Amino acid sequence: MEYIVRPEQKVSARNYDVVVCGAGTGGVIAALAAARNGAKTAVVESKGYVGGIATEGGCGLHSFYNLWKAFPGVEKKKVIRGIPEELINRLTKVGGASGHNETVLRYEYDSDTLCVDVEIYKYVALCMLREAGVDVLLNTMVTDALTEGDRVVGVITESHQGCEALLAKAVIDATGYGDFSARAGADFTDPNDYAVANSMGIGGIDIDKYYQFLKDNGALKEYAFGPRDGDGKLIRVDGDWGKLDPEVHKKQLELGMHTVTTTLHDNYFMFIKLNYMMPKSPTDRDALADAEYELRRRQQEALKLLKSVIPGSENAFIARTSPAITIRRARCIACEYDLTNEEILNGTHFEDDVLAYGFHDYAPRFQVKNGSTYGIPFRAILPKKLENLLCIGMMITSEHNAHMSTRNTVSCMAQGQAAGTAAALLATGGYDNFRDLPFADLKSALLRGGVWFEDEPLCVKTN
Ligand SMILES: Cc1cc2nc3c(=O)[nH]c(=O)nc-3n(C[C@H](O)[C@H](O)[C@H](O)COP(=O)(O)OP(=O)(O)OC[C@H]3O[C@@H](n4cnc5c(N)ncnc54)[C@H](O)[C@@H]3O)c2cc1C
Repeated sequence: MEYIVRPEQKVSARNYDVVVCGAGTGGVIAALAAARNGAKTAVVESKGYVGGIATEGGCGLHSFYNLWKAFPGVEKKKVIRGIPEELINRLTKVGGASGHNETVLRYEYDSDTLCVDVEIYKYVALCMLREAGVDVLLNTMVTDALTEGDRVVGVITESHQGCEALLAKAVIDATGYGDFSARAGADFTDPNDYAVANSMGIGGIDIDKYYQFLKDNGALKEYAFGPRDGDGKLIRVDGDWGKLDPEVHKKQLELGMHTVTTTLHDNYFMFIKLNYMMPKSPTDRDALADAEYELRRRQQEALKLLKSVIPGSENAFIARTSPAITIRRARCIACEYDLTNEEILNGTHFEDDVLAYGFHDYAPRFQVKNGSTYGIPFRAILPKKLENLLCIGMMITSEHNAHMSTRNTVSCMAQGQAAGTAAALLATGGYDNFRDLPFADLKSALLRGGVWFEDEPLCVKTN
């Protein structure tokens, strides 16, 4: 390996109260929360649109509700509210989301089905950021951190116009990859314990025919109804492909193809995910380039497979792919508190809870006790040793099984509201660092922002 030394560079600088790195699932909500709480806010996004993996990877948004249907007699509770719920309500009004619909089959996994139209999501989220007065710096990469000792003081960015410094009183790392925190000197691990994916949207394919095909083959696994092009029709379906022709099943497994899809439109599958377990972490650029190729190869094969088995889909085509690989995790940033799966399953709450959440992606194997909720404490988004920095989304929670809950879309969004609110309080309240911020002030601001807290938690941990 050869090395060069880069000369020192004079770059232009702008001043902000709060800079959010990454305008994805959590970052959009963080920036909205910061701006609405009075902070001069910028959000920096490497792509040309906002929304992140909520618009690129998943199928349904898990989950605004507790798992009420799996526990007869348990009250149905909407546990995530505030800005995430406002975004969904706004999307639903313009046909960009299904609203909340009861899952018919496999409700013990998620009792609520919520699907989004990814293109409307990108647009509406961007409108909301602009309305809130956030400076949305698109097509701009976060490349470095400005620090004074352990104190974060700004963000270095690169765009087509060159390098720029964004000086900030508080920074939120919402990059998914943990790029900013790593540059700032945070401790982290890079476990490479999940498959990466590229999810595609497929046109010319009928969800009702897919449902019927699965039913005829005794392979129907889950489904839900909701508004599709206006009417209450199927919007989510999955099958047990192990019950189909063994050759078809073998091919599906080879391709890493998830067989669940959602849709809000006739003749369209909003998501078909192709998964691939990389030999190295997705932070390795060259390994990532190979994975991008491999997933595009798999998409072509998957289309052929779907066309060959789902009746009436002979003219199906790939209408959309994610512009870049989507990851389930890259760096895991060491924070002051690391939630365990046991705490999640026991419905544990903390004195410094910033949200309550009730979904687990390994359900029904793992469910939060009695269909209740657990809390994510403020310390879980506060990186160790560094000051003026918060981390949200898929980069928190080191334990694999615990991560299967905290990294889901709706949790990431709620973490965004907590981080954005805290960052605004820090920046506008004259506090020296997040460790000095009185939690009571943060909780009051979150309550004002519509956040819901569990009144009667199953168990409370005070340390
Ligand atoms: C294939 C797949 C399927 C999934 N399915 C579901 C599902 O069905 N339901 C569910 O609830 N969850 C699902 N998840 C999990 C969930 O979608 C993610 O964990 C969550 O969206 C992550 O949110 P985030 O804010 O941490 O990251 P992201 O949404 O990825 O946001 C990070 C943003 O930062 C930007 N960025 C990254 N690096 C930089 C940089 N250096 N400079 C500037 N910008 C940068 C990115 O472009 C992106 O917009 C799925 C995940 C994947 C990968």
